[in-house]
Amino acid sequence: MPEEKMIICVGCPLGCEITLTLNDNGEVSKVQGNSCREGKAYALEEYLNPVRILTATVRTGNSSRPLLPVKTDKPILKTQLKQGMFALAKIKVNHTLKIGEVIIKNFLDTGVDVVAADNLPLIND
Ligand code: SF4
Repeated sequence: MPEEKMIICVGCPLGCEITLTLNDNGEVSKVQGNSCREGKAYALEEYLNPVRILTATVRTGNSSRPLLPVKTDKPILKTQLKQGMFALAKIKVNHTLKIGEVIIKNFLDTGVDVVAADNLPLIND
């Protein structure tokens, strides 16, 4: 019996349940349950190359605001999330930042930047 993978499409509020049928080599042989072409493309991408926005916090030099939420400005490969979390755990920002300001350019050589997800007021330490 062929293996199946179920993926819920997040392309719109309908949240279609898309079933991928895999052949013996793990290749997708059939896509069912999508209500549109974008959903098929999403399901294939989610199976073959899943990506996510990385959200985390970094330490700051501001004792009244010791942690600053940050995020990648575009999705990165899901397989890189753990490495990204470890990399961000080593970061400490020591200057004021505005929301959206770039903290790390070309994070993990992905071409994606890490940006502040909130304002960081004046450093007081
Ligand atoms: S398959 Fe199309 S209609 Fe269904 S959730 Fe995805 S984007 Fe929406």
